[in-house]
Amino acid sequence: MYTVTLIPGDGIGPEITSVVVEIFEHLKAPISWEVVDAGETVIDKYGTPLPDYVIDSIKRNKVALKGPITTPIGKGFRSVNVTLREKLNLYANLRPIKSLAGLNTKYNNVDLVVVRENTEGLYKGIEYKIDNAACAVRVITKNASEKIAQFAFKYVKENNRKKVTAVHKANILKITDGLFLDCTKKAANEYPEIEYEEKIVDNMSMQLVLNPEKYDVIVAPNLYGDILSDLAAGLIGGLGLAPGANIGEDVAIFEAVHGSAPDIANKGIANPIALLRSSIMLLDYLKLNELAKKLEDAISETVKYIDCLTPDLGGKGNTESMKNKIISFLD
Ligand code: ATP
Ligand code: MG
Repeated sequence: MYTVTLIPGDGIGPEITSVVVEIFEHLKAPISWEVVDAGETVIDKYGTPLPDYVIDSIKRNKVALKGPITTPIGKGFRSVNVTLREKLNLYANLRPIKSLAGLNTKYNNVDLVVVRENTEGLYKGIEYKIDNAACAVRVITKNASEKIAQFAFKYVKENNRKKVTAVHKANILKITDGLFLDCTKKAANEYPEIEYEEKIVDNMSMQLVLNPEKYDVIVAPNLYGDILSDLAAGLIGGLGLAPGANIGEDVAIFEAVHGSAPDIANKGIANPIALLRSSIMLLDYLKLNELAKKLEDAISETVKYIDCLTPDLGGKGNTESMKNKIISFLD
């Protein structure tokens, strides 16, 4: 039996985390959840959206499944997501983007992975004002860049993939992105059997829309990785389908790429697949590969039934009908 920290989160978070909990009961997954609250709902009580007991629970259990947590724009507390990644040194953000066969989307042949540096870049949040100017400091270190580059190549090797594309803007940001590229080049030299290429981020954005099937594993500094993973999610049918994992030395937090989607919260129409796919990554991480496969197959079957799907996928259903369909393929 594994104990896993579960953070329901804000917005649609509780609606989709409860789907995972119910589906894991049907899977008979050997997991007991330790539920801890973080986010908007605890600010009044604890004076912070990220109380220490949340960090303690994740440190103790080493594995967590997290619903999205709202980050207010322009004011208030620092992003809980960013703080967690920093405090637990979850240096790699792994975001597999794979088309679901049977779902009618713009592309049906996407199978790529965004490996996003997760601890620095512009997400250090170092900003200041001088008179009428506002500045942000973008920190790129050799240490974090080497780690994410190594992670990407190791991932390719362990998962029988073929190619790494390093994304940058080193023509403009010669020193910072230059350092990032030095580190990806160095890793590429250590893995001569893996194909390696570099793409400038603007061109990469166009290439991904034109020929997504040409890309395999994309490694990028924090902000480019964030933007490209939302773009890539759009290629396969939207944010409701894209999972992610934040991985450190011995701790991992699994969460969807999407945010708390306040525009659709409490309407019962949130797509649970992105978080379910994140929970499949969690099962694989715990080496419960058979259960992972079973859930993956159930989702692949479910998306063929357009009527039961959530509106973001063009369906007439809701979270509940989707959950029930998935369960019908598990029992
Ligand atoms: P964050 O800053 O936390 O990344 P965001 O501003 O990028 O958040 P999201 O919360 O990810 O925004 O939502 C972007 C859009 O995608 C919204 O219109 C939202 O309704 C939609 N969306 C996100 N997740 C889902 C989901 N699971 N099911 C259906 N629609 C979703
Ligand atoms: Mg976002």
